[in-house]
Amino acid sequence: MLDYHLHLWPHGVRDRAPTLEQVASYCRRAQEAGVTEIALTEHLFRFRQADGLLRGFWDDEPDAALRASMVRYWDDHAHADLDAYVECVIAAREAGLPVVLGLEVDYYRDRMDDVAALLAGYPFDVLLGSVHWIGVWRFDDLADPVSMDQWPVRGVERAWADYTTAMEELAASRTCDVLAHPDLVKVAGHRPHAPQEWWDRLAEAARSSGMAAELSSAGWRKPAAEQYPAAPLLERFVRAGVPLTTASDAHRLEEVADRAGELGALLDALEVDTLCGFRARRPRPVSRRSGARLP
Ligand SMILES: [Zn+2]
Ligand SMILES: [Zn+2]
Repeated sequence: MLDYHLHLWPHGVRDRAPTLEQVASYCRRAQEAGVTEIALTEHLFRFRQADGLLRGFWDDEPDAALRASMVRYWDDHAHADLDAYVECVIAAREAGLPVVLGLEVDYYRDRMDDVAALLAGYPFDVLLGSVHWIGVWRFDDLADPVSMDQWPVRGVERAWADYTTAMEELAASRTCDVLAHPDLVKVAGHRPHAPQEWWDRLAEAARSSGMAAELSSAGWRKPAAEQYPAAPLLERFVRAGVPLTTASDAHRLEEVADRAGELGALLDALEVDTLCGFRARRPRPVSRRSGARLP
């Protein structure tokens, strides 16, 4: 198994500089759970370099409360130094730890060329592409009343439609390698009457872009109360030949490799024995059980 989605800092905690010891402890915990390789994938928006590039992307939002909420969230997060993060993870990799250098990248409409240009200056192994926000609406920020108040205003059907469109645009931008938590829009537990169209479109977005998709245990820790993606969407990915990673989306050490065994059981049921690792943004098939590189 892999754990290809890991954060060093919980939300709300001001970023410390990452240390080799912290990365080593993540690797130890992962290996104890049968995970052969991890990717550190901190949010791009936690870094000052993203602030310089993207600050003000919320300016076109007409809703003043949503805009103010995003400014607060952004100012709370954009403090760490991307260079120090990259250097630390590379030092860990070079010390022989089973870790690769990644980042979790949000979708910023009309700004993905700028994002790609910034990231091209760093030696990333893997980039996760995520939609946590529809425009500036943080539909997954369960702790933010302004964001949660939007659910009844917009409605579940429109939220799923807008989310799916954003994921399609993110995939088509070819900025990233893996679609993270592919049906995150269910995070708060709201599901549409007929999700089949959205599942079909999400699977097609991955297939046509050549991206991998992530099987994540994080949904079990949320009101959604199941893995991302739902079983019918996971089946669609497998049928379409979309490569898969596995992930916990841990934001602290105790969550590293969370429920890796349960993710493995889902893959057993679909006879998936191969996962997709990455080096230098190139996919690399690996055995799910041994972690050995496959031809
Ligand atoms: Zn995420
Ligand atoms: Zn994440």
